[in-house]
Amino acid sequence: MSASPTALAEAAAAISESKSIVLACHVNPDGDALGSLLSLALALKPLGKEVTCLSEDGVPDILRFLPGSDLIVRSTEAPAFDLALVVDSGELSRVGVQVGPMVSRARRAVNIDHHVVAGAFGDIRVLDSSAASTAEIVYDLLQALQAPLTPEIATCLFTGIITDTGSFRFQNVTPGTLRTAATLVEAGASPPHISENVFENKTYAGTRLLGHALSSLSQTADGRIVWAHITAADFRQLGAIDAETEGVVNYVRGVRGAEVGILFREMDNGRIRVSLRSRESVNVAEMAQEFGGGGHRMAAGCTLNIPLAEAELALVAVAKIAVSRLFPG
Ligand code: 5GP
Ligand code: MN
Repeated sequence: MSASPTALAEAAAAISESKSIVLACHVNPDGDALGSLLSLALALKPLGKEVTCLSEDGVPDILRFLPGSDLIVRSTEAPAFDLALVVDSGELSRVGVQVGPMVSRARRAVNIDHHVVAGAFGDIRVLDSSAASTAEIVYDLLQALQAPLTPEIATCLFTGIITDTGSFRFQNVTPGTLRTAATLVEAGASPPHISENVFENKTYAGTRLLGHALSSLSQTADGRIVWAHITAADFRQLGAIDAETEGVVNYVRGVRGAEVGILFREMDNGRIRVSLRSRESVNVAEMAQEFGGGGHRMAAGCTLNIPLAEAELALVAVAKIAVSRLFPG
């Protein structure tokens, strides 16, 4: 499935008819969330649109290089908008408790997303769960709008694609992903420049955090479930923040024989952030949903309000059930 041409045309028409447009992405924004949001903003401004770019959690350090990142604000006083464009968010609540009501002040909302969709929302839904990234769908939308593809826009979209595909390594990569990426490079996106910013840019504290996480590594007897944690004390000791754990979970899933990899982080407020990754077999979005989270088949997350040790027991128990269904005996 790809996003329906009708939905793309409807979204393009809604944009054409609107003057004030609010754009929003999910909390803890990643390269796909901000790359998708900023590429739209950079394309819409020259069309004379008044754009407001909302990210409840701002811009993480490693994504500040994104063209247009200075357009991002955490809140707005504007009373109303003609249109809202919400990107990379499986449910409207994912934009955050502050930003949610600001987005709802728009007369119409367009939902542009590639998540396994349960909580679909919006008057116009440009959805494609087979797309590796929301950026690919935004690319199609910009084509429908006949918006010129500048090097800045191409950089934002390419960043969305490489972050959500782990540099074209994940199962979600399709020929379409690669074709879009090739077009973006032709338009001026620089793969080495973007990769250097996104992947070769870990802070010292963040790299030491990886060490702490890996030294906590555990696995089930059959090796199919592997997990690690980072405690609030680890964060404090190293002066690191949650955004610096980006990518750590891939080491956990990367263990030979692991069908499910889980990273637990104990936040300051005592809540436990959980990142889930799988190989082809287990649907971790379903696991995350049992705990009020969501995501994709092979990458999902949730937040628990119980102590770290209990969270580990709970998630590993659910992972065992999922794994035993697929690998009986
Ligand atoms: P990450 O582990 O990188 O935080 O998230 C992996 C995927 O799961 C992302 O696509 C993200 O949007 C989704 N995800 C993470 N946490 C949550 C959550 O609390 N709720 C929902 N619905 N999705 C989440
Ligand atoms: Mn995404």
